[in-house]
Amino acid sequence: MLEDKNPQRTPLSELGEFGLIDHLTKSFKPKQKSTLKGIGDDSAVLDFGKNQVVISTDLLVEGVHFDLSYMPLKHLGYKAVVVNLSDIYAMNAMATHVTISIAVSNRFPLEALEELYEGIETAARLYDIDVIGGDTTSSTSGLMISVTALGTLKKGSEVLRSGAKANDLLVVTGDIGGAYMGLQVLEREKEVFKVNPNNQPDLSMYTYIIERQLKPEARKDIVKLLEQLKVKPTSMIDISDGLSSEIIHLCKQSDLGVDLYETKIPLDPQVIATCEEFDIDSTTIALNGGEDYELLMTISQADFPKIKGNPNLTVIGYMTDKKSGMHLVTRADTRIPIIAKGWNAIKD
Ligand SMILES: [Mg+2]
Repeated sequence: MLEDKNPQRTPLSELGEFGLIDHLTKSFKPKQKSTLKGIGDDSAVLDFGKNQVVISTDLLVEGVHFDLSYMPLKHLGYKAVVVNLSDIYAMNAMATHVTISIAVSNRFPLEALEELYEGIETAARLYDIDVIGGDTTSSTSGLMISVTALGTLKKGSEVLRSGAKANDLLVVTGDIGGAYMGLQVLEREKEVFKVNPNNQPDLSMYTYIIERQLKPEARKDIVKLLEQLKVKPTSMIDISDGLSSEIIHLCKQSDLGVDLYETKIPLDPQVIATCEEFDIDSTTIALNGGEDYELLMTISQADFPKIKGNPNLTVIGYMTDKKSGMHLVTRADTRIPIIAKGWNAIKD
C-alpha cells in the first residue's frame, strides 16, 4: 500500500471534467516553438513549418462510455475511431492517422477483439486514414480503448474555439439530440430484455436515432464543404457533450455572449416523436444530450450568402458581447440563461 502523503481528499466531482483538466495541467506551459495550440481545444495544433499537424486523444471505458449489452463490438470499434476524427475535423483539418490502444480482460476471446478491430478497419477505410500503431495490455476489469488521431492542415487554416467575434452567426451542422434519444430507447429495451429475454423488440421506428448512438459519423464532409464554399469559420467545436456545453466553450474562449434561438435548433422528426413518447422536452435534449458529433461554428455575417439555404448548415443564433451573457431565446420570446448540464463522465 502506498502511504497517503496528501491528507486532503477533494472529490473529483467538485471540479467536473473540464475543471479537472484545467487543474491538473495549469503548470504545463508550452516550451516548443512548434506548439501553436496545446491543451484546451478539440485538438492540439503543431506547426512544423510548411505543414501543421493536429492531434487529439480520447479514452473510452466500459461501463462509463459504453455498455456492451447493446453496443456490438464492431460498432464500438467504429465509434471509437469516429469520435476522435470528429475532434480533428473540428479544427478544420483533415484526419490522416490513428493509433489504437486497448486494455482488455480475459473475459474477451480473440473473436471478440477481431470484431472490435473489424469496426476500426471499417472506419479507417471509410474515412481514408491509416492505423499506424498502439498498445495492447491486460485489464482486471472490462475493456478500455484509447485512440489518438492525427490530421493535417494548411498553415493558417486552423479554426480554434477562441476566434469568434461579436455579431458572428452561430451555425450548427446536421441535427441534434438523436444520439441521446437513441440511448434512451436502448436503455429501455435493455430493462425489458432483463425481465423477458425472449422478447424481440421492434425498433424499426427508432432506426435513425439508434444509428446516431451506435454508429455516429464525423463530419469530414463539412470541412470539404466549407472549403468549396470558401467559408472559414471564425471558431469551431464538435458537439460531444451537448449544445449548451459547447456553446459555453466557444463563448468563454472567445470572450463573448450569445443569443441562441430555440425555434432554430434543428431536430429530426424521429427525435421529436421519441421525446414526446418519453415525455421529455426536445430542447432540453438538444441542449444537454450530447454525442451527436456535429460541428458547431461561428461565421462572419459577410459569409451568410455563401451558406444560405445549404441543408447541412443551420443558423441557430448569433454572438453578442460578453456582458450581454449567454441566453436561449425561447419560443415564447423569453430569455433563459444557458448553463452547462452536459454529459459529464466524472460527475455522473
Ligand atoms: Mg471535441
